[in-house]
Amino acid sequence: MGGWEPVTVTEYEYDDGGRLVRSWSQPESEWDQQQQAWMAAWAQYKAEFCPCGCGQRWADTTSHEEGGPQFVAERTVCRARLALLEAQKAAETPELIGQARLWTVRKVEGG
Ligand SMILES: [Zn+2]
Repeated sequence: MGGWEPVTVTEYEYDDGGRLVRSWSQPESEWDQQQQAWMAAWAQYKAEFCPCGCGQRWADTTSHEEGGPQFVAERTVCRARLALLEAQKAAETPELIGQARLWTVRKVEGG
C-alpha cells in the first residue's frame, strides 16, 4: 500500500479556430471507483476489530462475559527485534528479551 494518488484526467475544448476555450479536470472515474471500493472495504474490515490493539474482533471483545468467547493471552519473542536490540544496546539494558516480546490474544472456542 501507500503512494496511491488519484489519476486525474484533463479534457480540453477548442473553438473552430483551434483556440482553447475550456478545460476541466476530474478524477479518472473507473480507477477512482475501484480505489473507493477498496478503501471502503478496508475501512469496514478495520472497523470490525477492537481499537485497543488486541487484534480481536470488536463484537467478541465487547460481548457479554457469559455466553461470549473467552480469551487467553500468550507471548512469544520476535528474535529479529531481539537481535537488533542486542546489537544496539547490549551494554546498558539489563532485560532485553522483555522488550522483544509480542503479546497476542486468541479466542478460545467453546469456552
Ligand atoms: Zn481489544
